Order: sequence, then structure tokens, then C-alpha cells
Amino acid sequence: MNNLEGGSEVLVIGSFMMDLVFKSSRAPKDGETVIGESFKRYPGGKGANQAVAAQQLGASVTMAGKLGADLYGEEILKVLHQKQINTGKIIIDSNETTGVASINVDAKGNNRITIVPGANHAFTENDLLKIKNMLFKHKVLVLQMELNLNVTFKAVELAHEVGIPVILNPAPAAIIPEKVLSKITYLTPNESEVELLTGLKIFDIEDAYQAGEILINKGVKNVIITLGSKGAVIVNEELKEFVPGFKVKAIDTVAAGDTFNGALAMKISKEIELEKCVQFANASAALSVTKDGAIPSIPTESEVQNFLLKYQN
Ligand code: AMP
Repeated sequence: MNNLEGGSEVLVIGSFMMDLVFKSSRAPKDGETVIGESFKRYPGGKGANQAVAAQQLGASVTMAGKLGADLYGEEILKVLHQKQINTGKIIIDSNETTGVASINVDAKGNNRITIVPGANHAFTENDLLKIKNMLFKHKVLVLQMELNLNVTFKAVELAHEVGIPVILNPAPAAIIPEKVLSKITYLTPNESEVELLTGLKIFDIEDAYQAGEILINKGVKNVIITLGSKGAVIVNEELKEFVPGFKVKAIDTVAAGDTFNGALAMKISKEIELEKCVQFANASAALSVTKDGAIPSIPTESEVQNFLLKYQN
């Protein structure tokens, strides 16, 4: 299928999280206990979501990161196996707990979230260096910012050294040093993330172009700013382009960004023209917002192809 000497097309180095979702009519006050209405458990984390998206949309994927030696870790691993993701580089750490998010949702849909990164934050630069010599076996490296930032930034440097393109999805938002920005092939912030990175508030496409230019001037090769239902813009040395989104009935936008990034990585790994990659990512992410949840909402390659066919007719 590929001649990557045993590697996959896409390598994701990133986070795992078990989302524990409690629904109750209202949130408890200090010292109070309220009886909730439902409880659900969703395997995820930005890294895992993006890995599943890339794989399900047509790429071969390896994921690296760290899980705790516990039931949540086992469950996440099982999902990745079901999706046929190569998990050989995932470390199970018996001293850590798998990352968890406690999400309390009230009747109005307001969230209160506590995240314990656990094993994600125990993935160190040393762990990263152990996989340095397999980086070149992949077509593209995908990173987010749920691991320790020093690890993520080091991964950008290593990919640059080895010469493989890197997609950095700067979520959750944090400042990125210029020496890291200058080594990023594709930076994919949303509107609020790009505001933190550039100081510019995004009201329209012109603002997005301007924000993109600021980042290009700091050395990023390609900036792709996602704009929710509007779609995305691409900015690089040669072009500024708006790639419109797809009109769908939105039910739940959780993991829209992750689906977008996974889809983008899949297409980039096939060396497709960037505008077409972003168009496919918009379509994939649009389909993901028509379903509830994170991983369960990620479409398959054929679902996206059928959607695009219908949309064109
Ligand atoms: P965001 O992180 O909100 O910018 O969303 C990421 C991507 O998901 C966008 O660039 C769109 O491609 C897609 N998307 C998000 N929300 C919607 C929506 N309501 N309708 C269609 N596509 C959406």
C-alpha cells in the first residue's frame, strides 16, 4: 500500500482522554450533592480523535502517546484497535492514570469541565526521543497541544530535522515560540486560537487573511484557519484563499476541529493539492457536526465521498 518501510502514512503524537459526561438539571453548589439524570463515557482526547478521523477517512495511521494501566486505558486501546490504528508506539505507564475529563452538563447545556491529564502529561521528551528514528517512515506528523507543550514543540523540531511535514493543531490555545512557528508546515487554529496567537479578533475573512499573514511572516509555511460553519481560509506565501464550508443541520459540534485535522492529514499524506485537502476536511467536519459525540460522529471516507457527490448535484 505504501513504501514507508513499515511506517504508516500518518503519525499522530498526542493525547488520550476518557470523557465522563454527567447530565443533571443543575450543577451542584459547594458542599452539595445533586442527583443526575444520565451518565455516559466517551473515549477521546484530541490526539485519539484525530487519529481515528485520519484512519477512518482513508489513511494508515500510527499513534504514539501514553495511557495509564487502568480500565479506561484498556477501553481506549480497544477502540483504536477496532479502528485498525497501529498502537505499537503507545506506552502504558503503571504509575499514571489515563487522562480523564469530568464534564457536567446542566439542563441549559452549560458545561463545567475538570480535566486530569494524567498519563498524557507523563509523556516526556525522552519518550519522544525513543521514536525519533521512526519519524521519517511517515508522510506527515500530526500534533495538538494536550501533551506537555515542551514535548509538542520538540516534536515539531524533530519532524523539521527529519524533513517530514507537520500539522500542528494549536488546541487548547497557548502561545507558540517563534522558533517553533518557523518549523511548522501547517498550523490549523480556529478563530479563538488564532486570536491568542496573533492578537487579532476575527470578524470576517479579511481578518482571517491578516491573521494568517502575521503567522506566515513568523515563518509558518501554511496557515489554515477554521471558521466554524463558514469553512476555512488558507494563507501561505503564494495565496490567500477562502474555502467555504458545507450547509448542514448542526446537532453537536464536538470534535468538528478534530475531524477537520484528521481529514486534512489524510489528504496531505496522499500529496493532494492543499485547496482540495481543505475542501475534503470541511466536508468531513460538516458531517461530524450532524451527529452526537466525538469518535462516533466521525464519518467514513465513503460517507464523505457520497456527501460530496450529492452536494455537487
Ligand atoms: P471550528 O473548530 O468551529 O472552526 O470548526 C472546524 C471545522 O468544522 C470548520 O472549518 C468547518 O469545516 C466545520 N464546521 C464546524 N461547525 C460547522 C457547522 N455548524 N456546519 C458545517 N461545518 C462546520
